[in-house]
Amino acid sequence: MQPVRSQPRSAPDGAPSSASPRIVIIGAGPTGLAAGYRLRELGYDNWVMLEARDKVGGLASSEKSANGFTYDIGGHVLFSHYEYFDRLFDKLLGDEYQLLLRESWVWMCDRFLPYPFQNNIKYLPKEVVLECLLGLVEAQKQPLDVSRFRNFEELIHGVFGAGIAKYFMMPYNFKVWAHPPKMMNKEWIGERVSVVDIKRVLGNVVLDRDDAGWGPNSTFKYPLHGGTGGLFERMQPYVADNLRLNTPVSHVDVDAKEVVLADGSRERSDILMNTMPLDVLVKGMTGDGPEGIRCEASRLRHSGGYIVGIGLKQPSPSKKCWMYFPESNAPFYRVTYLSNYSPEVVPDARTHYSLLAEVSHSEFKPVDRRKVVEDTIQGMVNVKLLRKEDRADIVDAHLIERDYTYPTPSLERDGALHAVLPWLETKDIYSRGRFGAWRYEVGNMDHSVAQGVEWVNRILQDDVANELTYLAKRGC
Ligand SMILES: Cc1cc2nc3c(=O)[nH]c(=O)nc-3n(C[C@H](O)[C@H](O)[C@H](O)COP(=O)(O)OP(=O)(O)OC[C@H]3O[C@@H](n4cnc5c(N)ncnc54)[C@H](O)[C@@H]3O)c2cc1C
Repeated sequence: MQPVRSQPRSAPDGAPSSASPRIVIIGAGPTGLAAGYRLRELGYDNWVMLEARDKVGGLASSEKSANGFTYDIGGHVLFSHYEYFDRLFDKLLGDEYQLLLRESWVWMCDRFLPYPFQNNIKYLPKEVVLECLLGLVEAQKQPLDVSRFRNFEELIHGVFGAGIAKYFMMPYNFKVWAHPPKMMNKEWIGERVSVVDIKRVLGNVVLDRDDAGWGPNSTFKYPLHGGTGGLFERMQPYVADNLRLNTPVSHVDVDAKEVVLADGSRERSDILMNTMPLDVLVKGMTGDGPEGIRCEASRLRHSGGYIVGIGLKQPSPSKKCWMYFPESNAPFYRVTYLSNYSPEVVPDARTHYSLLAEVSHSEFKPVDRRKVVEDTIQGMVNVKLLRKEDRADIVDAHLIERDYTYPTPSLERDGALHAVLPWLETKDIYSRGRFGAWRYEVGNMDHSVAQGVEWVNRILQDDVANELTYLAKRGC
């Protein structure tokens, strides 16, 4: 595709359209906001951003409860892979952020052990340690050749062995993804699952060594004001002139090159950047979409989430950041001490603290919405985050629901994406972001911002070769 300002594009009837075609962006989450920000940065005016909700930020926004607690849509930890993102963060927040030391834990067998699990099994009962070590030794008899694993479950067993698979990797991953690991591919993993160094594991057990070191980042930044959403709200002034909130898109009329809004009105769209879930976009499309494309898009899988915020009138009892819960005694897979991230997310940090729990759901893992808050509180008691008597100090319980929280890297995913995304591009529809591009491995906040920016560089500057994040070729 040529850069839009250097070559007029064709209108559907063959007549040349203007040298500055109309760009429509669906969604004002991090991807859409970043695209809008970049369009403005490059001085391009002919665009509009349509957002269904009454605020920006998408899944990276935050909500303030009636009792004055601020909650994110799940624990959001910012690890940037991009200089552009770092500069943007500095420009938007200046010094109004907290620099936090990553401190994550796993709750198992009635105790906490530092993450990563496999490096800290020494904390577990001796028979569990033995089972984990024997499984690991057995697994490592085979040379590590990831290509022989057909799915994520096989990779878990092949890399970690039967013991670690049984106690942590299998139950934890089912809890997060709400899909059996055997339905998932192994391509998404990259740096996200820390693999095993058997000498290190054995050394830690025999020498009774603590080992919380993992991955490239030991610190992360968090906005001082407004939770995670505070970062993206600060992008709003840069896109405000072109932003329409409370404007849900009903569907896209592909042949007419129009976006149809829920109120029935239409927006001309020479070029469309979509960030709403790809399966929803394709299902609703009208026009001459081949049936095969709809069929491929319908094969994409995802999970939804219940995010439960609990506020207590007590000083924070812990310095922990977040904790993983693989066992069945609690419905959540992760809980964050959110008030340890910023004192501003609670009414008074000297006397209050907050916990943020994440519960996934899908057709394979149904969750009773009516009971999820109570089950979460009971789960917190079961795993000793709360004592029974702490219930009397709970002054806030806030439920956030989203049908789309994790794009599942299922076995069918890459085939479906390879069919759907290039076809859309032949219609000048570009689907990007966490659920627009459906690639979990490039679906974090920094990746999403990069996807928005790199897409604009491609459209305005013909920088096709560098749209790498979307292709999952950088960052992970
Ligand atoms: C539980 C959870 C934990 C996470 N943890 C982390 C983390 O630790 N670190 C990290 O970096 N990232 C994390 N993320 C990911 C982060 O939230 C995403 O990277 C980011 O929000 C994706 O941005 P996006 O713009 O692509 O999509 P979204 O945020 O989903 O934004 C899409 C926007 O489109 C709008 N929209 C949808 N349909 C329509 C329609 N029909 N018409 C108009 N508008 C529409 C939505 O309202 C939304 O505002 C987490 C996400 C979740 C759910």
